[in-house]
Amino acid sequence: MIGSNATEGEIGGSAYATRVNTKDYGLNVHGAALGIHDRVELSIAQQDFNTRATGTALGLPGLHLKQTVVGAKVRVLGDLFLPASRAEDQTLAQFVARRMGREVLERLAQPLIAGIYAADPEYLSLAATMPHLLHMERTYGSLLRGFWKSHAQAPVMASLPQGLGQLIAVLERQVAAHVQLSTPVTAVAPLPAGAGWIVNSNGQSWQCRRLVLTTPAQHCATLLRCFDEPTAQLVGGIHCRSVAIVNQFYFAEQLGLNLPRCQGFLVPLPEGTSFSAISLAHKKWPDRTSPGFVNLRVHLGGAGREDFLEQEDETLVSRATEEIKPWLGIQGEPLKSTLTRHTQRLPEYRLGHKARIQQIMENVNHWPGLQLTGNWLSGVGIGECISRADALSKHWNNREVLCKA
Ligand SMILES: Cc1cc2nc3c(=O)[nH]c(=O)nc-3n(C[C@H](O)[C@H](O)[C@H](O)COP(=O)(O)OP(=O)(O)OC[C@H]3O[C@@H](n4cnc5c(N)ncnc54)[C@H](O)[C@@H]3O)c2cc1C
Repeated sequence: MIGSNATEGEIGGSAYATRVNTKDYGLNVHGAALGIHDRVELSIAQQDFNTRATGTALGLPGLHLKQTVVGAKVRVLGDLFLPASRAEDQTLAQFVARRMGREVLERLAQPLIAGIYAADPEYLSLAATMPHLLHMERTYGSLLRGFWKSHAQAPVMASLPQGLGQLIAVLERQVAAHVQLSTPVTAVAPLPAGAGWIVNSNGQSWQCRRLVLTTPAQHCATLLRCFDEPTAQLVGGIHCRSVAIVNQFYFAEQLGLNLPRCQGFLVPLPEGTSFSAISLAHKKWPDRTSPGFVNLRVHLGGAGREDFLEQEDETLVSRATEEIKPWLGIQGEPLKSTLTRHTQRLPEYRLGHKARIQQIMENVNHWPGLQLTGNWLSGVGIGECISRADALSKHWNNREVLCKA
């Protein structure tokens, strides 16, 4: 137990003094303890044992045994005993800090969340992002027990042996004749009496019976604004994070560190780096890199690091190149370096996200032939995006002649 009544986010103290006086001996003890966030306890105690008659009988008259005891406790396994929270929703940070402590939040949860969602756990809604953790707490009363007893979760992010580009290549082969590339949609509007939709792109326009907006949240909001301002506001209010990837190649000899079984690593925010992770892509996908070469993917931006992305491409790449050198013992310069920006592409499901999405869907139902989808709805990983696309196609349940847009 941690001393004081301080709970998460509070600091509390307690002090005590005990005095025992008998004919044969005396004992004076006083001390204080500081409880920090119900997680760490720092304490100090002074004990003075006056041997009195006992000491005299032993030939040591006036003997005092004195000691100062300094203590520090960190609650690690409290998760096993803490009750489940009754809050309707809470941030991931509140949840992890309460169950496992701030150290686990800052050193483990934050980098993992930055690696998957580029998001800040201080904002993320637990119910919308990681409902399985909530389920574990409620079912098993503890995360540790939950992880132990429950089956492994499917990974949030998935890929294909040749990378996600493989998916696009297959789709291209199947629907290429129906796709018009490099044609940004600039406006959409419903036709009168629910007869369908009109889609505009820089001077061209198309009509269709059914329309699915699959653009990122901010683009979707822009298009919705053409005919439904309240829904546009709800979609536009979804906070999205920006990231950038620097893809680099080196000769294997340039890497000073040998990381045998490692495919990459995550870096906690307190380290102060502009990058949140480095993937050793040549190890993840050995078939994609020629032997003797190293392929690094340096992940930039995301929560707490988006300011770095304001720099020009060239500055950003050279900064990242210099920063990663000591982490991997890199000698010299990369053989090739490319930067790809993904601006506002990763949604951060904040508190109230589920209610927001429910409201958006209710609003959309008032528009015949309209559907929305995208990673900002209910799952960021490609697997969840595909499941939603499947559900949508079943929802309409017949083969449509695809509209060109
Ligand atoms: C850098 C990065 C790496 C990722 N890696 C993985 C991974 O390895 N595994 C995984 O499971 N998930 C990964 N994700 C997450 C997942 O890939 C994405 O969440 C998913 O691809 C999103 O799909 P989407 O259809 O919602 O949006 P997007 O894939 O962004 O598609 C939106 C499309 O809309 C188009 N568009 C935008 N505006 C207009 C307009 N006005 N007119 C016409 N078209 C428009 C865009 O060009 C784009 O093609 C990654 C995400 C990022 C940002």
